[in-house]
Amino acid sequence: MRVPHNSDVPVRGAPSSTVRGTAALNEAATSSYTALRSDLLIPGRGQPIEHGALVIKDAKIEWVGEFTGRPSKYGNLDFKHVPVLMPGLWDCHVHFGGWGLGSGTIGDHRTLLPGAQALAGAVTVDDLRRTLEAGFTSVRELSGYAGYLWPGIRDGYIVGPNVYSSLTALSITGGHGDVHDLPICAVHGFGEAGGNYQLCDGVDECLKAVRTMVRRGARCIKVCSSGGVLSLDDDPEDRQFSDAELTAIVEEASRSGRCVAAHAIGKAGILAALRAGVTSIEHGCYLDEEVADIMKQKGTILVATRHIQESLFLDHRGFPEPVVEKIKKIVPLTRANYNLAVKLGVKIALGTDSWNSKSGERLSHGNNAMELTYAVKAGLSPLEAIEAMTATAPDVLGGKAPKSGQLKEGYDADILGVAGNPLQDLSYLTDSTNVTHVWKGGKLYKSS
Ligand SMILES: [Zn+2]
Repeated sequence: MRVPHNSDVPVRGAPSSTVRGTAALNEAATSSYTALRSDLLIPGRGQPIEHGALVIKDAKIEWVGEFTGRPSKYGNLDFKHVPVLMPGLWDCHVHFGGWGLGSGTIGDHRTLLPGAQALAGAVTVDDLRRTLEAGFTSVRELSGYAGYLWPGIRDGYIVGPNVYSSLTALSITGGHGDVHDLPICAVHGFGEAGGNYQLCDGVDECLKAVRTMVRRGARCIKVCSSGGVLSLDDDPEDRQFSDAELTAIVEEASRSGRCVAAHAIGKAGILAALRAGVTSIEHGCYLDEEVADIMKQKGTILVATRHIQESLFLDHRGFPEPVVEKIKKIVPLTRANYNLAVKLGVKIALGTDSWNSKSGERLSHGNNAMELTYAVKAGLSPLEAIEAMTATAPDVLGGKAPKSGQLKEGYDADILGVAGNPLQDLSYLTDSTNVTHVWKGGKLYKSS
């Protein structure tokens, strides 16, 4: 059944203040406005406003300020009260792959069988809804199927966040995005069919891979410039792709305004990605002072993905022994290096690497706000952590970033109503039942 697009899409009923009037005759006297006020308004960037308020017109925020200072044109509006208002959250690193189905794990080859993508897509619909209801109005997906489902979200068929997806991860043959225990023709076939990884070797293939992803609708590009942890047979300390290949990928992506995110764990892979000019370093586990200096000079963003690392450190059931050894080695190292990055002032945006479609697991979709707690443990204040998950986050998309992540005039009306002050207690965000209201593009999707 199609979700109505130009009317409310309430998940649990919408208050009348969200009903869109068609005859917007007399400024604030019409129903085309939604007016909200709160005890505390967290703008995303800058200091919180006590007794703040805002007015939404259509999909945008038209006014933000102190309730008592509201312009007279809004005098007739009925301001709905919630305890705390803040911008919708961003998760800058997710995967909607339907992983975890049945007994399937991330390396389950059944996910490559014909028909598996349809099943994964169907399961992903509920994961997208859960993510939105947890307060995440935007996600950057760095390989997965949500990018293919995005037109359905945009056009009102599916309830979910705004999705900015790379669709796939570019990898060398034998690299992080290869499946080492399958015939290479099967891996190529999966990539060509829209699977989660795409092998490319040499400058020509790298250029073609970027162009192919742009053709499919990728809104950013992901490249693996080092080995990985969950990939069975490669070493995260190895670098992958040559300088010429990485530069070709970044330059080709930039021709269509796309930013490049680099999966980069080992120092050599991080440095190579930085030389090529990527916009963000994902994981960045071996970050040190030299890396931090270069990132600061270039303005490169670190997306540390602590949620997946700490979750796998605590629970790595089902993973083979070589993968478990990598987890045990790298997670403590990253913990220390994330602290260093915060201390040295590297630009940080938050992403979780959430991927599990099973409910009730640490890495299930919808637990994304846990990343805030790790950012605070690494040294950010709660206000800075929220900024890294709101105002700073769209910067991972560079010039194509939407005006989002802030409660500011002219910005997208992606807004949360929260039951209490997350600056004092982050469980007001990590427990999604405390996220009582979610507006996306001015429409109310959750009201409880
Ligand atoms: Zn990832």
